[in-house]
Amino acid sequence: MEPGSTKNGMWKEYLSPVTLDEAVAALNRFQSRARIVAGATDLMLELERGVRSGVDVLIDVTRVPGLDRINRLGDEVIELGPLVTHNACVASKLLLEQAWPLPRACFEVGAAQIRNRGTIAGNLITASPANDTITALMVLEAEVRLLSARGERVVKLADFYRACAGR
Ligand SMILES: Cc1cc2nc3c(=O)[nH]c(=O)nc-3n(C[C@H](O)[C@H](O)[C@H](O)COP(=O)(O)OP(=O)(O)OC[C@H]3O[C@@H](n4cnc5c(N)ncnc54)[C@H](O)[C@@H]3O)c2cc1C
Repeated sequence: MEPGSTKNGMWKEYLSPVTLDEAVAALNRFQSRARIVAGATDLMLELERGVRSGVDVLIDVTRVPGLDRINRLGDEVIELGPLVTHNACVASKLLLEQAWPLPRACFEVGAAQIRNRGTIAGNLITASPANDTITALMVLEAEVRLLSARGERVVKLADFYRACAGR
């Protein structure tokens, strides 16, 4: 894609990987110059406002198949892919029955347009003070799976935020 301009900055490269391996390799290659793009409801505003200085490579993961799924893994574990949106949670019978606090929280997010595009993963990364899903996921004892070129690790959401009060 051509370089895109925003009011306060621009990105030089917009990558559209079709596998997770390609996305991870691109992150590893560009390091702090790169950000993942999911629904873009936060990131585009941040770029527009110039609060992501040094970021000029966007890695759009929306073409990687299968990342928008909600899967049951065993009796007590439900896995959300990184492209699962707020409205997908609101509409999920599995989550409504087994993990009520999350769809309830997702229903509070913005308006329908935001809930249709915005992902839970993006919401957790931005971690705004006004965030709606972190509390619900903490109550549900959620964990996050982190991928990098060095491998994969699973971290309790409660340990994911280094600046959490009392830690
Ligand atoms: C008008 C408006 C109203 C809103 N109202 C609310 C609200 O009421 N409550 C609330 O909680 N939020 C609200 N939000 C915030 C927002 O919609 C969410 O934070 C959204 O869930 C972000 O998801 P996204 O897919 O759009 O993320 P993006 O904008 O694509 O990305 C956000 C951040 O996460 C990173 N990222 C995304 N996916 C990954 C991944 N898989 N791995 C690593 N990094 C990743 C990006 O690099 C970026 O830093 C609102 C936003 C707007 C614009």
